[in-house]
Amino acid sequence: MKKSLWVAVLLLAGVLFSASGVGNAGLKNYQCRKCALLVRSENVPPAMGCRADEGGHLWQELGPVGAMNYHCMKCRVNVESRWEPNVQGCPASGNHQWNRLGKIGPVNHQCRKCGLTVRTEETPNPIGCPNGGNHQWYKSK
Ligand SMILES: [Zn+2]
Ligand SMILES: [Zn+2]
Ligand SMILES: [Zn+2]
Repeated sequence: MKKSLWVAVLLLAGVLFSASGVGNAGLKNYQCRKCALLVRSENVPPAMGCRADEGGHLWQELGPVGAMNYHCMKCRVNVESRWEPNVQGCPASGNHQWNRLGKIGPVNHQCRKCGLTVRTEETPNPIGCPNGGNHQWYKSK
């Protein structure tokens, strides 16, 4: 009797734990279509405080936070995303143009040409430097 009760309690605790959004479970990426600010949030962030418009941020949901780096060569944002982010609402113009740079890891890589820094396991994909041609990656601190 007692043993099965404890199992039930543990199962319930597990359900509550996973539902509370521990880790990145419930987080989504949101970017402002006006000022290009990127934030992680479970819900649509507040509109206050946009640098590009007194009327406030205009948030575009990009999708769930995850383990892959995606970079838009038009607005230069790098998004840590579960899959390819939403293409809609690039602050630069039209749709985002995403390049998959690689899986998130412990090493900082910086591009000599555009200055972008990404955390990856291996040397990131060189395709799509916003300053023209390919990124030139080196390991930074
Ligand atoms: Zn904004
Ligand atoms: Zn973009
Ligand atoms: Zn670059």
